Amino acid sequence: MANADSDEGLGTSTIFGIIAGISISLVCAILLVSCAVVKRRALLRRERERLERQIQILQRQRDMVALLQEAKNSHTSCLSEAQIKSLSRRTISEKDIEPCKADLENQNQSTLTCGVCLMDYSVGDLVISLPCSHVFHDACIVPWLTTNDKCPLCIKSIKNLIAN
Ligand SMILES: [Zn+2]
Ligand SMILES: [Zn+2]
Repeated sequence: MANADSDEGLGTSTIFGIIAGISISLVCAILLVSCAVVKRRALLRRERERLERQIQILQRQRDMVALLQEAKNSHTSCLSEAQIKSLSRRTISEKDIEPCKADLENQNQSTLTCGVCLMDYSVGDLVISLPCSHVFHDACIVPWLTTNDKCPLCIKSIKNLIAN
């Protein structure tokens, strides 16, 4: 009788041992899976941000094409060579970019991104400040102004702004 009791005791502890083993393996498996999920999420988030940026650039290009088409259809006058030459130009310096980095960290839209190509300015870039105070790469805005006298961001007539 005593022998059967101890057998039963042994059986119970073996079952507990197996349950404990399974529980530990389960916890380990859950930890591993959640680790992988977190990594995958970060990867997907980065990929989504990259794609959103691409979409933004494509939408901008589409808007520019639409504006150009509109200018062509309405025969809007463009700026003369002399007017384009008279626009204020400067070179981007380290100082210009510093406050912009702070803006980016605060999730504000960077004011130092070219509105035509949507690239952030780098030190040494030659930029033009239009009379509406919007800034663009010289190389990006000059071809635009030879066919259109409106700022591509605020659609104000640069000719009118120069005249006033
Ligand atoms: Zn540009
Ligand atoms: Zn503007």
